[in-house]
Amino acid sequence: MLTDKRLQRNRQWLLDQRTRLLAEMEGIDAAIDGSERPGLGTHMADNASEVFEQARNAGVLLRLRNTLELVDRALLKMDKGGYGTCEGCGQAIDPARLKALPHCSLCMACQSRAELSSPHRR
Ligand SMILES: [Zn+2]
Repeated sequence: MLTDKRLQRNRQWLLDQRTRLLAEMEGIDAAIDGSERPGLGTHMADNASEVFEQARNAGVLLRLRNTLELVDRALLKMDKGGYGTCEGCGQAIDPARLKALPHCSLCMACQSRAELSSPHRR
């Protein structure tokens, strides 16, 4: 069982994480907007590196969005109840795991099962 103190610390971590993720996403959005502007980088080499940069940014953005979703879900569960309970098997998540990953929604066993069954997940 999680102590109130631990819960409060995790909530603070999640809120901090949320702010950080949003700021990071905004930065990448701005970078993507900038690189999509026509008339810039007319050299082939520049275009190639721009395409690469855009693909990389899109990947990072997707990962940030996924993390943000987990953070939001964890915060919601803190309010509505169910935080610290595995969404896969309904067992309590190891407090040490929650300390390291306050936004995780699966226990270690379910997490590795989920990763095995969806090899395309990042
Ligand atoms: Zn589980």
